[in-house]
Amino acid sequence: MRRVLAAAGVVVFLGAVPSGTGSTSYHGVRYLMGTWCDLTLFDTPPDDAPAAVEEAFQEIARLERVMSTWDPDSELSHINRAAGTGVQSISHDLAGVTRTALDVCRESGGAFDPTVGPILHLWGFDTDEPRRPSRAAIDDARTHVGCDRISLSLEPPAIRLPAGTSLDLGGIGKGYAVDRALDVLRARGIRRAKLDFGSSSLAFEGLEKGGWPVVLADPRRRDRPLLAFRVEGGSISTSGQRERSFVQDGRRYGHIVDPRTGEPVQSRLLSVTVIARDGTRADALSTALFVMGADRGMAFVSGMPGVRAIFVEADRRGGIVLRTAGPIDQLVRVPS
Ligand code: ADP
Ligand code: MG
Repeated sequence: MRRVLAAAGVVVFLGAVPSGTGSTSYHGVRYLMGTWCDLTLFDTPPDDAPAAVEEAFQEIARLERVMSTWDPDSELSHINRAAGTGVQSISHDLAGVTRTALDVCRESGGAFDPTVGPILHLWGFDTDEPRRPSRAAIDDARTHVGCDRISLSLEPPAIRLPAGTSLDLGGIGKGYAVDRALDVLRARGIRRAKLDFGSSSLAFEGLEKGGWPVVLADPRRRDRPLLAFRVEGGSISTSGQRERSFVQDGRRYGHIVDPRTGEPVQSRLLSVTVIARDGTRADALSTALFVMGADRGMAFVSGMPGVRAIFVEADRRGGIVLRTAGPIDQLVRVPS
């Protein structure tokens, strides 16, 4: 989906491999959507596994051609170029992911906003040379941002963007791709799998005795584990500001922007991890919570059935403060 500006490190990575006796696993890795996609199938007949992994990767590659803003030939790029020219027919995939993006936009009061593209563009986050723009330019870009500017219909799938408005699915697209890739595996009869996508989206299919182990890296030192916990299944998404960022005049600016100020989020929050049943929502919510910050984010997510979150904040002395919304199974802090 995008290139990497600053060194992108591992945010979430899986610890132990499931142990069950007689368990066979098949592993595949491919570079997709600007990052490494790491897929492991368990308990799968050796004759079936390579084709299933290939089909899942093909599905993600197909969705990259739908949602990428880096590819000028993607469906999304065509739709963005057609802004201001009336209603455009779109694929079911683009309509589906946009619908969830708009839902999360409204639920989060615009903290997550898929129309944030003009602001990202102004800061140069869609280039290899990001830089701080003028306040006047930011204010101008903000006039094109807001999810109410988009008209979406699902049957038949179609969209209308006013001139100057564009869609950016960078905060949700990987999660959508994870969900569709797991659909492909399920349709092929795969019962247990782990998909680790760029380490910021992780998903599990099927059951693992005692829960699937997850290790969360320290957002400041990606080579160090910070937390370990277990999940019964579902999707896990982590958002943080160091993934793609640049430093100007001594300040670090990251790729998650607050649509209401037009500025990259700057706070004590280092990362937010969301655990949810589906990857699309987990991805959008982790970006939304990062924008909202820990206090508002905790309140926002607490009432959501099946959604849990971990906020990792810096304290004033360079330490780390953890806050969790909802029960996190066997959560342990890894001694440093
Ligand atoms: P990652 O892509 O590293 O997994 P996120 O899921 O948090 O991280 O997505 C960050 C991306 O989301 C940015 O690169 C940008 O494309 C987009 N984005 C930035 N700010 C917002 C926002 N407030 N709302 C929606 N999308 C955003
Ligand atoms: Mg996200």
